[in-house]
Amino acid sequence: MKKIFLTILLTAGSLFAEINVDATYATMGAIAKRIGGDNVHVVVLGSSKYDPHFIVPKPSLLAKLRRADLLIINGGGLELGWLPPLIKSANNGKIQVGAQGFLDMSHFIKMIDKPASVSRAFGDIHAQGNPHYSTDPHQVSIMAKAIAKKLSQIDPAHANEYQQNLEQFLAKWNAYLTNYDNKMAACKVKKIVQYHELYNYFLRRYDITNIGNIEPLPGIAPSSKHTLELINAMKANGVKKILQDVYHEKRTAKFIAAKTGATVSVIPHEVGAVKGSDTLENFYNTIAQRICK
Ligand SMILES: [Zn+2]
Repeated sequence: MKKIFLTILLTAGSLFAEINVDATYATMGAIAKRIGGDNVHVVVLGSSKYDPHFIVPKPSLLAKLRRADLLIINGGGLELGWLPPLIKSANNGKIQVGAQGFLDMSHFIKMIDKPASVSRAFGDIHAQGNPHYSTDPHQVSIMAKAIAKKLSQIDPAHANEYQQNLEQFLAKWNAYLTNYDNKMAACKVKKIVQYHELYNYFLRRYDITNIGNIEPLPGIAPSSKHTLELINAMKANGVKKILQDVYHEKRTAKFIAAKTGATVSVIPHEVGAVKGSDTLENFYNTIAQRICK
C-alpha cells in the first residue's frame, strides 16, 4: 500500500513539474518537444489541417492558454486574425505579449517580402511581410536556439538539459540539412506556381522561381481575369508544377492544370498537414519530394 501511494506521489510530482508550452502551430510545437524533452508538455493550438491565418478561436483553446507557462507564436502577423482576443481573455499573466512566457519567433527571423508601405495593395494578411518562414528547413535551427534560450529562462533548474538537448538536436539537424540540400540541388523543378505565398522562403533557399500565385493577392480569392493571366504566364515560362496547400479550394488549381498540362501537388505547410509528414524530418522530406517529383 505504501509503495502504491509513493508511486502516485512521484507520478503526480513529475506531472506538475512539467512546463506547459503552447505553440500556435505544429512545426514550432515539434521543435519545442525536441528541445524540451520530458520537462515540457507541448500543446499545439492551430491544427495543420486549417488555414493558419484563421484558426477558429474555440473555448478549448482558451482553456489551454490559461494553463500555459510559455506561449510560442509564429508572429509576423500570422496569428493576428485569431489569437489576440484569446490571449486577452485567457487572463494568464505569464503569456501576455511582452511577458517572460511569451515568445514571438518572428523576432529571430529575417522576414522577406516586407511591403514598403502598409496598404491593401499587398493583400489583407501579409502587411508585415511574409510570415511563412517555417517551410524553409534552415529556419529550424534558429527556432530551436530561441526555444532553448527561452525554456532556460522560465525553467532555470533544467537549463543544462535544454542546452544539451539543443546541442544534440543541432548536430542531427545540421547533418540532415547537408543531405537535404544535396537532394534539393538535384531537383529538376525550377519553376512553379503556388496558391498562397506559403513557400517563398523555401523557393528562395533552393533557387526555384515562383511565376505567380493563384490568389491575386494574399487572402484574396482568385478571379477569372487573374487565373487567365496566370495560365498565360505559365505557358510562356513552361511551368509544369502547381503547389496546392491542404486548406484552399482545389478547383482553380485543377482548372489551371487542365489548361497548361501542369501537375497539382498538395504540399504540407506545417508538420502533420498531410499523411506521412508528422515529424520535422518527414515534413521537410515531403515538401521536397512533392515539389521535385
Ligand atoms: Zn499567408
